[in-house]
Amino acid sequence: LMGYVGFANLPNQVHRKSVRKGFNFTAMVVGESGLGKSTLINTLFNTTLYPRKEPLPPHQERPKTVAIESISADIEENGVRLRLNVVDTPGFGDFVNNDESWKPIVDNIEARFDAYLEQENRVNRSKMQDNRVHACIYFIQPTGHALRPIDIEFMRRLHQKVNLIPVIAKSDTLTDEEILQFKQRVLSDIAYHQIEIFRAPVYENEDEETIAENEEIVNKIPFAVVGSNTEIDTPDGRRVRGRSYPWGVIEVDNEEHCDFVKLRQMLIRTHMEELKEHTNDVLYEKYRSEKLLAMGV
Ligand code: GDP
Ligand code: MG
Repeated sequence: LMGYVGFANLPNQVHRKSVRKGFNFTAMVVGESGLGKSTLINTLFNTTLYPRKEPLPPHQERPKTVAIESISADIEENGVRLRLNVVDTPGFGDFVNNDESWKPIVDNIEARFDAYLEQENRVNRSKMQDNRVHACIYFIQPTGHALRPIDIEFMRRLHQKVNLIPVIAKSDTLTDEEILQFKQRVLSDIAYHQIEIFRAPVYENEDEETIAENEEIVNKIPFAVVGSNTEIDTPDGRRVRGRSYPWGVIEVDNEEHCDFVKLRQMLIRTHMEELKEHTNDVLYEKYRSEKLLAMGV
């Protein structure tokens, strides 16, 4: 399935640049226990997956939580290699007092900024390693009502440090109608609280097909996702990744059933470069200049 990620089909210029620099993309997943983070990561990779201990950035303190772990996979398509890293953050929101549950995550993101900043300040900058988080997938409980205070607090604390991509977890537990309404509600809550989620830039000189494809992806935010690591048989005799119900089968890779495919496309194909660029040019730059200012540099 990952053979279809299509990053070899990126626009030529972007593509050449990335091939030269090497693809390296890091996403983080955040949300309460049981919302399907680990399942979605596995669904996303569903390929030769190996746990890898991230080398700690030099001269860098260990992140303040032990709960943060990272897995990576090298994927190859048409001779182009992509290293996809996903940082899992178990335990968010699970404490009796959740007032500061965003903190270890902010610390982790900032520690990665610091590690990058430290490399930039070295004399020899030829071997820069970019472990910054390029996208944060935030899992919203499928309540069908509204964002909860913990969601709002988390996103407000994070939105100027990382590209936020909200998703509706376990969307197979909601009806299509409920999903549409919930998406509207989530978006209006986000707007009301002036939270900036990732907005893909629209390039006017892109061809119509690309513009349409990008619009279709962006219009699905917050993505209604379903994860599954088991293959099941559909009534019409196909074997699919999905979840089985008395009334039928929800297929993970079927765009009529959920937005998983769109989320994957956005991360690995259509918006990977934009997510990286926004991280570097806006989010990291803001962090860097504020830090240097605070240090009186
Ligand atoms: P995590 O704690 O956020 O990492 O959640 P897990 O991935 O461990 O999933 C918790 C439970 O929810 C497991 O029993 C999964 O099988 C189930 N689960 C995961 N994804 C989905 C989903 O999309 N829909 C439904 N209905 N259940 C899911
Ligand atoms: Mg988990």
